[in-house]
Amino acid sequence: MKKTAETSFYLFKFLGFEIKIDWSCIFLAIFVTWTLAIDFFPRHFPNCSMHTYWLMGLIGAVGLFLSIVCHELCHSIVGRYYGMPFKSIIIFIFGGMAETKEIPPSPKVEFLISFAGPLFSLILGLFFKLLLLFATNNNWPASLNGILFYFGMINIVLGIFNLMPGLPLDGGRILRAILWWWKNDLKWATTVACQGGIGLSFAMIFFGFLLIVQTIVIGGIWIVLLGFFMLNSAKICYKDFIIQESFGNDSIKKYIKTPSISLHSDITVQALADDYFQKYYHKIYPVTEEDGTLLGYVSLDEIKQIPKEKWPLILVRNMMLECSEDILIDGDTKVIDVLHMMRFPRNNRIIVAEHGKLYGTISFQDLMDAIFIKLSLK
Ligand SMILES: [Zn+2]
Repeated sequence: MKKTAETSFYLFKFLGFEIKIDWSCIFLAIFVTWTLAIDFFPRHFPNCSMHTYWLMGLIGAVGLFLSIVCHELCHSIVGRYYGMPFKSIIIFIFGGMAETKEIPPSPKVEFLISFAGPLFSLILGLFFKLLLLFATNNNWPASLNGILFYFGMINIVLGIFNLMPGLPLDGGRILRAILWWWKNDLKWATTVACQGGIGLSFAMIFFGFLLIVQTIVIGGIWIVLLGFFMLNSAKICYKDFIIQESFGNDSIKKYIKTPSISLHSDITVQALADDYFQKYYHKIYPVTEEDGTLLGYVSLDEIKQIPKEKWPLILVRNMMLECSEDILIDGDTKVIDVLHMMRFPRNNRIIVAEHGKLYGTISFQDLMDAIFIKLSLK
């Protein structure tokens, strides 16, 4: 396994799509295996050994993971057919996500991409139900019947749950596609679909609490958490839409203010503090040669670690850092991707370079100001 950005890990590649798994999945796997082994299977399929129930639980958890992967693959395959940049699928504690930051080009494409996942889950669920019928008629072992029963149920639940009409669920995207096609107003359609998502989230949180009150505690807590997660996602969906609408496919170069502030490596840390940090109030500064060749960068975090009395004695070249890929980008990088990088507090300001030379720096606030001005002038 090789590490990808953030908290997810690359697992394998299938049909050209990278399948990634988030660390939070470990909790999901343990939770699913445990509840299947000690409750679900013994309740529905008695008379198996405890050892068999744990094995069934483990197979059930793997089956759930593969069911989610298949569901997301269907979105991705249809998306790729219509030229959308679907590259990877990430599975995390509350399900899966076929990653793309772009809005489909038309309501029809949005509808087809969104509908493909739940449709496949429902077909897969039905297939397992039919296989279970065959298995029961032919007296297959109870353990196998149990697994088929669970696979059938989980895929049908995946299909139906995802069809609920609120973003970020597939049903929300389907609703947005229909409204978008109806009034030809994507912004309005997104707003309504996000409101649908927020309404559904509150309904789930309420339903979860109702289950907890009725002593179905674990299921209830799970639904409450899922409700809160959906609530947050519905808000993020709207924010992402506004960002996408504001920047489209613009590259970051367009938003860099020139001339940019940079410093030479032969100044002291004292001069760095006085003439840069206390003058421009940026948290990072690129270090360059005379001709603009980028050498590295200095940040507030590093200067804070040096005792103040040593500031006049140390040169920037002795404390500067190498520009790693989480702080340095190419001028042609899309704004949407830059904002994605800026989700982490360390990357509040990013250095932009072209052919090894400094182009400028840009902060999260600069981009937020750009959105505000764009929206104000519309
Ligand atoms: Zn889906």
